[in-house]
Amino acid sequence: MGKCMIIGCGGVASVAIHKCCQNSEVFEGIMIASRTKSKCDALKEKLQPTTKTVIETAQVNADNVDELIRLIESYEPDVVLNLALPYQDLTIMDACLATKTHYVDTANYEPLDTAKFEYKWQWAYRERFEKAGITALLGSGFDPGVTGVFSAYAMKHEFDEINYIDILDCNGGDHGYPFATNFNPEINIREVSAKGSYIENGKWVETEPMEIKRVYDFKGVGEKDMYLLHHEELESLALNIKGIKRIRFFMTFGQSYLTHLKCLENVGMTSIEPIMYEGREIVPLQFLKAVLPDPASLGPRTVGKTNIGCIFRGKKDGKDKNYYLYNICDHQECYREVGSQAISYTTGVPAMIGAMMIMTGTWKKPGVYNIEEFDPDPFMEALNKWGLPWEEDFDPVLVD
Ligand code: NDP
Repeated sequence: MGKCMIIGCGGVASVAIHKCCQNSEVFEGIMIASRTKSKCDALKEKLQPTTKTVIETAQVNADNVDELIRLIESYEPDVVLNLALPYQDLTIMDACLATKTHYVDTANYEPLDTAKFEYKWQWAYRERFEKAGITALLGSGFDPGVTGVFSAYAMKHEFDEINYIDILDCNGGDHGYPFATNFNPEINIREVSAKGSYIENGKWVETEPMEIKRVYDFKGVGEKDMYLLHHEELESLALNIKGIKRIRFFMTFGQSYLTHLKCLENVGMTSIEPIMYEGREIVPLQFLKAVLPDPASLGPRTVGKTNIGCIFRGKKDGKDKNYYLYNICDHQECYREVGSQAISYTTGVPAMIGAMMIMTGTWKKPGVYNIEEFDPDPFMEALNKWGLPWEEDFDPVLVD
């Protein structure tokens, strides 16, 4: 069918690459291009004997638009799948524009110096992508990603209007360390130490970090504390789903994680303000990242399950209706299949599916779109096929 260039070779990319290689009919060729080429080569060495997909590798600095353009021009992919960090979104979009190549990512752009999660920078590319006749698919991970597809599916098949959405992200996994993050620590800690917020009646309501706590009994996991966080898909879903009055995002955290985080915050280790140390500027959070366990090393140690999904409340045929769509994923099963834990797996699988939707032309419209703006049905079918089967509950326990 075609060729895909994957940028980045970290936790999420590794899963997406495994999945592309399982799907050689669509992904005839992939190029793994990242900052550290040895990681790309190691993955190629492992996977090439197992797949018909022809794997190439390259070194690239994705902060450099000219370098990206040269690489895209030489490989001529049908789509670029951005699995580097949110800081690289705009440079990669610029390179896609210059080469008229479709673009897919899993996280919205963030400037390095402010932990601000907003779509405005990427939405500003809409007209230019439209004119170039190419598609940018934003947020094709799990959350954002599958949560948007779930919302579009609920809207299409189950509701006339959706008034309330609660996105619940539960990780019941245990890696045995007192403190470690399941994905890039810098991104993770920026996310959880930021103020919380949700959207009510079209307006953002801000909370202190971790101010709002609820307890929920998750299928496959059990009872967990969960906390309201700001999350990027709230912004796009509030615009794209009809009738939304309130939309919130909750994530589970254990007490040990929160106590460590509070302590690190109190001593200034989670700050993104550069400081001088022995004549050199360092960012405390980046230094912290360097001393924490590499998320990729958690795979073999992590046991338990994740349960991520959305509870919808709204109206169908004039009657009130509740509906819960979720996926349960087992850390050890993921590790056995692709050598990664469930957090990377639940993001890498939808990333591959998003690229597939664009490569096969199943999703085809020039411009910049969030995932819920496309027909959810083929994506929902692909989730069942490619390792993230979903379950539904028509009488869920609600979150107050
Ligand atoms: P990792 O840190 O494990 O991987 C990032 C990769 O990008 C690394 O291989 C890194 O290179 C590479 N990279 C970083 N900067 C550059 C650069 N300037 N040029 C080229 N390559 C670069 O992160 P994850 O895999 O955990 O996360 C990847 C993305 O997925 C992030 O944007 C994250 O926010 C997103 N994500 C989305 C989720 C969702 O559900 N939507 C959930 C989890 C993550 P090197 O190997 O040299 O460090």
